[in-house]
Amino acid sequence: MSSDGPVVAPLGRSRACADDAHQVCGHVGYATPPVPGRRRESTIRLCRCSCHRACPLAHRKEAVPVTVWQRRCACPGAEDARTKRGDPGESLPGPEEYWETYQRDSRQHSEARKDAFTAARSAALGKTRDEIRDLYLTELRARGLEIPREPLVGATIDVLSGDPRAGLRKTWKTALRMFTDR
Ligand SMILES: [Zn+2]
Ligand SMILES: [Zn+2]
Ligand SMILES: [Zn+2]
Repeated sequence: MSSDGPVVAPLGRSRACADDAHQVCGHVGYATPPVPGRRRESTIRLCRCSCHRACPLAHRKEAVPVTVWQRRCACPGAEDARTKRGDPGESLPGPEEYWETYQRDSRQHSEARKDAFTAARSAALGKTRDEIRDLYLTELRARGLEIPREPLVGATIDVLSGDPRAGLRKTWKTALRMFTDR
């Protein structure tokens, strides 16, 4: 089940690449917020756009640690975010941005998918991540929608189970300061 052929649309692209602004894409689909106390395990889901094929990380299908991305990514758009002093976290998109781009990229059934998301969100309060996941998948199935592939489901659950705008970026700033100050 790991490889069931190529995806038809290049889903999983960053917002920059979805907008055809390939030069500014830092090869980051979205960054997974670090678990407290486990900052070194912070990972980045790479942008799937074909414009990154010359990058040494291009063949990586799994999430890569942020430290690996900082060292090895050769994409021009990433230079800024990788080397910037101060607040590099600001330039890393969280799961919400990724999810929004995904919604926009896959217009098919987008209304129904939005409904499923809204239904799950209104029922998500006070639930655990696993419960929210079940909720969302149930809502999708009830509408006859396909269950998205793993990084996308994960991003959606991240959005549903928290308020990324409030929490993520702050956490990221702290985490990345740890990396860049070393
Ligand atoms: Zn691109
Ligand atoms: Zn890209
Ligand atoms: Zn790269």
